[in-house]
Amino acid sequence: MTGRILIVDDVATNRIVMKVKLTAACYSVLQADCGSAALDLARAELPDLILLDVMMPDMTGVEVCRRLKADPATADIPIILITALSDRANKMAGLQGGADDFLTKPVDEVTLLARVRSLLRASDIQQELHLREDSCAGLGFSEAGTGYAAPGRVALVAPDAATGLAWKRALSGRLKDRLEVVPREQALQGQDPDQAPDVHVIAADLAARNEGLRLLSDLRSRPASRHAAALMILPPGDDERGAVALDLGAGDILYDPFDAEELALRIQTQLRRKRQSDRLRDAVAAGLELAVTDSLTGLHNRRYALRRLARMLATPGRGVAVMMLDLDHFKSVNDTHGHAAGDAVLAEVARRLRDALRPADLLARLGGEEFLVALRDIDCDSALDRAECLRAAVGGQPVTIAGAAGPVPVTMSVGLAMCHGGGESGAEVIARADRALYGSKSDGRNLVTVSTSASAA
Ligand code: GH3
Ligand code: MG
Ligand code: MG
Repeated sequence: MTGRILIVDDVATNRIVMKVKLTAACYSVLQADCGSAALDLARAELPDLILLDVMMPDMTGVEVCRRLKADPATADIPIILITALSDRANKMAGLQGGADDFLTKPVDEVTLLARVRSLLRASDIQQELHLREDSCAGLGFSEAGTGYAAPGRVALVAPDAATGLAWKRALSGRLKDRLEVVPREQALQGQDPDQAPDVHVIAADLAARNEGLRLLSDLRSRPASRHAAALMILPPGDDERGAVALDLGAGDILYDPFDAEELALRIQTQLRRKRQSDRLRDAVAAGLELAVTDSLTGLHNRRYALRRLARMLATPGRGVAVMMLDLDHFKSVNDTHGHAAGDAVLAEVARRLRDALRPADLLARLGGEEFLVALRDIDCDSALDRAECLRAAVGGQPVTIAGAAGPVPVTMSVGLAMCHGGGESGAEVIARADRALYGSKSDGRNLVTVSTSASAA
């Protein structure tokens, strides 16, 4: 993994030692020898990660951290604070100021590199989502965060019920989130991602050694829990398995006996990151929805329809009915009532078609005043009945439009082609339905015509 890491330390030897470790692991390194130089360099270079010494003459690392997190340009850069002693006050202040982790000198190389990998992976995902969010914004969709955070759900998976309850008691005054003690067997049971906990706190060893680590990798592999954050609790000094936990996808680790306030702060960091990526993921999904939707009618667009039709044709059942629908003399609606009225008629026709169809049916606007309908697992007679229903739903009564002189009469012609598999492509079936539609037009319009070509038999 490549990444640019900013090392901030007032002692040159410390910077060099750190630089040697990081360059050996193929990271590129920037250096700053004081707090103010670190702020300048971070803003100018936007590194992927910052290793920040706490004790510096001009400004403490905690203060540098606070300023970087307060600036939107640098707020997303992960920060690891590094101190000579495990000084609780600084540690809490640092975590409160938004630091992602705290390491004590001399820094253990295995732990450091596992941390770096884990934080870079998390920030890679964020950057990727930000990029996609930008492209969704380009399609006219983007939504600012509300700033309000609903309470999260935190699952506590401890070696036994008594330990789980002790964790819960220790955290309950410090977090406003829902805390649940979850037995190991239940942690994998939920299927619905909306019901899944936001954060799992898991002991490395449950009933058996390493069972918590296995649970972690299981959770990361299942759709329902894949996006949940995880924080692993390890036996004192078990650096080696701490590194393994980070590589398995834990967002954070902590060693027993843990400080409850520290655990609460670390859970909050995990929740904050999880909410941010949820929001980005939702924005991306909505953007994708937009890319397959026609904005005037809210129906699926051509691109989506062709992909979906190809999938329907792969499993035809009794048959797939493909219909091309086209409004009759629609040009004269525009000419008589104006283009805006034409748009309103199209939206109303779309609504009537949608009401006449079932959720499993495919309905799309291919363009202009042309629609595509496809029904799965249906025979020709039933398909013909359904086509007549659609024609009646559209032409049965004129469309009333706000501002128009009077109701606008609308009729629709339909061409129907049946497909029973046999390797015919979506484009070929549509072409047959289109020829049948042409038949309806030339026979006087407001009609349904069935394709009689040989392959329809
Ligand atoms: P036919 O019965 O032969 O189908 O006649 P028609 O007038 O419906 O067909 P033609 O293809 O000649 O004209 C289609 C018209 O649909 C022309 C175009 O102005 C109009 N149209 C296409 N897209 C839109 C749209 O999004 N909004 C509006 N208001 N009109 C549209
Ligand atoms: Mg038309
Ligand atoms: Mg047309």
